[in-house]
Amino acid sequence: MAYNKKIRLYLVIILLAGWAVTLLIAQIYREQKFYRDSRVLMGTFFEVVSPDKRAANIVFQEVTRLENLLSKYKEDSQVARLNRSGKISASNEVFKIIELAKEFSRKTDQAIDITVGPLVDLWGFTKLDFRVPAGSKIKQTLKLVGADKIILNQNNNVIEFKLSGMKIDLGGIAKGYALDRCVEELKKNNVKSCLINAGGQVYALGKRSGRYWKVAIRSPLKKRAVDILELTDQSVSTSGNYEQFFFKGGKRYCHIIDPRTGYPADKKIASVTIISDSATTADILSTAVFVLGEQDAEEILKNFPGIKLRIYDEFV
Ligand code: ADP
Ligand code: MG
Repeated sequence: MAYNKKIRLYLVIILLAGWAVTLLIAQIYREQKFYRDSRVLMGTFFEVVSPDKRAANIVFQEVTRLENLLSKYKEDSQVARLNRSGKISASNEVFKIIELAKEFSRKTDQAIDITVGPLVDLWGFTKLDFRVPAGSKIKQTLKLVGADKIILNQNNNVIEFKLSGMKIDLGGIAKGYALDRCVEELKKNNVKSCLINAGGQVYALGKRSGRYWKVAIRSPLKKRAVDILELTDQSVSTSGNYEQFFFKGGKRYCHIIDPRTGYPADKKIASVTIISDSATTADILSTAVFVLGEQDAEEILKNFPGIKLRIYDEFV
């Protein structure tokens, strides 16, 4: 081949390759069309953003299924039935969730404990008739609290309470678990990119037009972002004292209760944010760290490698 022709061929190849790469990048970064939908589920707003039209319905269907299984407010749920009768023959899934909750209780020095039910009722957070109970009443109710008092029978999936009057409340775990389940369902359906916001707890599946999903942590007081997180295949959960609380005698009482004392958590932190590739872990640990406080949490979080923690003392 003549020298000139060879150069021309190389030029064409280089141009073609350049063109192909440009096309590829344009394809990745092209602003895709995103579908958004939201629905009130599990007592909160579930918002779904995805370039895949099917994503929202997949999420809503799965969360509805789980709400019917796990909500203490749904009369026919397995949790409501257990709370009423103190004993049920559970489905494999519910059995596993309770087992997991017990394990987290052990691993967090009982900062998280799903048997806080009677305390949540006593402080009025179930029916929103808030009150500060008498110390003696709290002491008495504390006897019904303790995940070790849930008996799990591995042979037949029977869950039983040791004491009558015990109640479980999956409020600190159900949203996280639901997010993980939704992600499994989305993946099964080949949805590759989706952001689910479950009332402040987020799961970011895949990427957003080839880039990380950006999630802002907002100051509830100033309504501005205090942090912007870049996420992919990760969940971020925040537990704070500003979401559900009441004031009495100038003191703020929040809906997260220390199962060891019977009183609302009071570690002088405004909020705890946990980032993890498991939404269940993020949900549980943000509540647990809020109860434990920064110092005690440090030791316990060593049992959970791979998670990231951010604590905001005060929102300014
Ligand atoms: P949010 O629902 O706002 O995300 P959390 O995930 O921190 O808040 O869960 C708080 C809910 O969990 C409470 O409303 C209550 O139902 C339940 N709960 C409160 N304290 C505890 C605790 N120490 N361990 C387990 N569950 C708790
Ligand atoms: Mg939570």
